[in-house]
Amino acid sequence: MNTATPYFTETHPLICKRLLRAIRVIWLAATVVFIISIFRGVVLYIDGGTQDLHFIHQVVNSTLFAPYIPTMIYAGWIAESQPRLGTQIMLVATLIMLSIQLAMNGTQAVHVMFALPATMVLAGFFTNNHVFKKITIAVITLITCLTTFELIGIKPYHPGSQGYFGIRSFIYIGLMILATYILIQVIVRDFFVIQQDLTDEKQRAEFIATHDPLTGLYNRYYSEQSFDHFFVTMEKYESGFVLFMDIDNFKMINTRFGHEGGDFALKVIAKRLKAVTKNKQAIVCRIGGDEFIILLICTPDGAKIISQQILDTVARPFDLHNESFQLTCSIGISTADKNSTFREIYRQSDTAMHRAKYIGKNTLIEHDQAHTDKELAHAQTLASLQQALVRNEFMLHYQPQIDLESGAVVGLEALIRWKLGDKELQPDQFIEMAEQYGLIHSISTWVIQQACQDCKQLHDQGYPQLSVAVNISALLLERNNLAETVANSLRDTGLPPHALELELTESALFQQGSTSGNAQLQQIRQLGVELSVDDFGTGYSNLHYLGQLDVQKLKIDKSFVMQLTNTPNKANDLAAAIIDIAKRFQLKTVAEGIETPEIAQILQGMKCEVGQGFYWSKPVSLESLLVFLENFQQNAKTAHHSQ
Ligand code: C2E
Ligand code: MG
Ligand code: MG
Repeated sequence: MNTATPYFTETHPLICKRLLRAIRVIWLAATVVFIISIFRGVVLYIDGGTQDLHFIHQVVNSTLFAPYIPTMIYAGWIAESQPRLGTQIMLVATLIMLSIQLAMNGTQAVHVMFALPATMVLAGFFTNNHVFKKITIAVITLITCLTTFELIGIKPYHPGSQGYFGIRSFIYIGLMILATYILIQVIVRDFFVIQQDLTDEKQRAEFIATHDPLTGLYNRYYSEQSFDHFFVTMEKYESGFVLFMDIDNFKMINTRFGHEGGDFALKVIAKRLKAVTKNKQAIVCRIGGDEFIILLICTPDGAKIISQQILDTVARPFDLHNESFQLTCSIGISTADKNSTFREIYRQSDTAMHRAKYIGKNTLIEHDQAHTDKELAHAQTLASLQQALVRNEFMLHYQPQIDLESGAVVGLEALIRWKLGDKELQPDQFIEMAEQYGLIHSISTWVIQQACQDCKQLHDQGYPQLSVAVNISALLLERNNLAETVANSLRDTGLPPHALELELTESALFQQGSTSGNAQLQQIRQLGVELSVDDFGTGYSNLHYLGQLDVQKLKIDKSFVMQLTNTPNKANDLAAAIIDIAKRFQLKTVAEGIETPEIAQILQGMKCEVGQGFYWSKPVSLESLLVFLENFQQNAKTAHHSQ
């Protein structure tokens, strides 16, 4: 029998089980028939006389029928484990049994005729097309033989039979078989076509769910799904590795050649990754964008070799739009054992990959727990930072600015602090992060508003001469709502515009060449708000912007101020030069980082107007500032009276 196409019973074990249950019913029915026939035989024997012939016939009939029952039991048992063999035995046994019954009984077994199409139906549904055709041929052959017996005068063994079937019966039965054949062909073929379609569809859906459509590699979902059972197959001498690979500067290719160019490059890389990992125990996945993950089982040395091969193969030039193009990649590698979880290893290798990027790209970095912990802490800080504003965790500290000539407090610098649990974080611990993750805009809005509000309060509490300086990140100039934020804060708090000053670093002022940045600074100036250059002397030495921008103050950076000494040195020269530049541009100078009276005096001698530093006060809360201002005024009065 043909083995090419599988039997339905093989592809559908559940239906096979149901079939076996049905067969058991048939077998039961057969047993009943068998018992009845023995019973009839006994009755006929008891009746005696001419009935003896019937009795002998009955005995022969039952004897021939008897093997069918154990055969069917055996077939049913076999079919549990070998559905194909079981089905074949059942069909052949049934066909033989029917042939014997018909041959022996002729017209007396007319009811058996109906079992013929039933057998065909069984074959049609539960085997394949090939077997079904064979069974149909067997049935037609049987009917033809029986009709031939009738025509040539052979009589059946049954004493009461009127012979076999004539031509007319042959035609009827033939038509019935033909109808069954066509019906089964149509139904079964349709059924199998639908079945095949469903299987194809299922396979396609499975492919889509587990593959990346662009490169044909596995996707992230698959890498996660296969993670556990993949590493279970590891031998003792082998280790599991996860390589997290990211293409360096991939954005460049998209910018230059459009997304089509980017797609092409990804396909090239995918092909090369496949080639490198061919015949290795590896699963290569594209997990999105320009990121790939490779699950690998090999020796530790093997992992290093393969990683290097990946770095090399990615770095091989390829042609794009008739240009030779070269990419590099960064790889983070982490070791997985049988108990590792996907999330844990994924994060480890991802962090290692970012470290590889950080230290210069085109390299491989192994996971290092200390570094991962640091990254984790960083991520936790970020999560807290995102909540800090709504949780009201920021506060402003103020550092007074002193007129070096008169000794009076003329201004304040607002410096942000973050109260996180029982820690107080300084700006250098979170401002950069806020800038990186787009939080600086909302934080700065809060700072400006709060500083205006506090300064206005100080005005109202008897210090109307004070102005407040707020530090402004370079990024704020890139959005065009800084002037609006400033105007709103002034309006909401009622602080006069001249009492507000924005401090921008030299690099921020220099970098912002954008028309929107310039326009914003102009608008802010038009409001009456002052601008100062913070940390002057530490940024770009291009002074061009001083002539271009309408700034009012230069703040001499504390790195120069702290080195000032009574015996002139380079720092003294630098400070003097900065003050000189400021004078030429009609700008005021503010020296920050003054820690001693000597330095204050030196700067005063250099004609620096304003000083700020620990010598007078560290940055303090508004309440402490009020105490400071009170004492400062008191001391100034005492000093004045004692003069
Ligand atoms: P900055 O604007 O140059 O602020 C002066 C820094 O010098 C302050 O550090 C201040 O505490 C410190 N300082 C002042 N006098 C002395 C002194 O005599 N000795 C020493 N050793 N240090 C002194 P802080 O508060 O840690 O601020 C650091 C930087 O963080 C600021 O430098 C500023 O660039 C930035 N920053 C502070 N607040 C904000 C803010 O609200 N927004 C933005 N974007 N940046 C801010
Ligand atoms: Mg400042
Ligand atoms: Mg500064």
